[in-house]
Amino acid sequence: MTFRATVLTLYPEMFPGPLGHSLAGRALAEGVWSCEAVNIRGFATDRHRTVDGTPAGGGAGMVLRADVLAAALDTVAAAQPVLAMTPRGLPLTQARVRQIAAGPGVTILCGRFEGFDERLFEARAIEEVSIGDYILSGGEMSALVLLDACVRLLPGVMGTASSGDDESFETGLLEYPHYTRPVTWEGRTIPEVLRSGDHAKVAAWRHARAEADTRLRRPDLWERHEGARVPSPSGARHEKDETQ
Ligand code: SAH
Repeated sequence: MTFRATVLTLYPEMFPGPLGHSLAGRALAEGVWSCEAVNIRGFATDRHRTVDGTPAGGGAGMVLRADVLAAALDTVAAAQPVLAMTPRGLPLTQARVRQIAAGPGVTILCGRFEGFDERLFEARAIEEVSIGDYILSGGEMSALVLLDACVRLLPGVMGTASSGDDESFETGLLEYPHYTRPVTWEGRTIPEVLRSGDHAKVAAWRHARAEADTRLRRPDLWERHEGARVPSPSGARHEKDETQ
């Protein structure tokens, strides 16, 4: 079954863009997934094909009209879920990517200018998604990021079937570091244990490094990982906070 991606955008020529190459490009050519980019401007109703308006209450920039976007959404035979790319949305996670990739496809609304008229999200079932705490000039790049993350998980897309399981975030930890030839480079040698041929030792070393690196680099992930393993015995920390 083909995973169907429909993208509503003012710049349909940006798709599939980089996803027409490499693994995703081959999967697209083989029909593992499809990518339809629909121009939002085609759903404008006035002579000038207006898709935006000035912000109510004043301020800089323009806002995408709810009526035009809803008309676009209601017309295209789109797969669920429907996502809108916006920095105001829920940060994208590998867990959500896995859920989406397991479904029939996805419909993505790409913002431009200052973003969307808020009433669009009240009137339609749309999931607001952010790809991180920084601002892009449009939703197209974030849609490509989301699609890339989904497509590589589709059956048959990745070379080695197992190569997804160990990745950063899949286990709640960052992945361990990698090394390859040459054994010695600029005086630095690949850790002895990785050259020992002892699979149990290698696995133990990798696990220890994944834990140590996560603790050091991503205390937020580490805390969640520890929290998931050892249920917090009491609300001790909260009680302390309240006395401050
Ligand atoms: N005024 C908005 C930013 C608009 S940026 C705000 O401050 O929240 C223009 C468009 O780029 C957005 O509508 C969205 O579609 C896209 N975009 C920008 N940053 C993004 C991010 N971090 N994640 C997802 N989409 C983003």
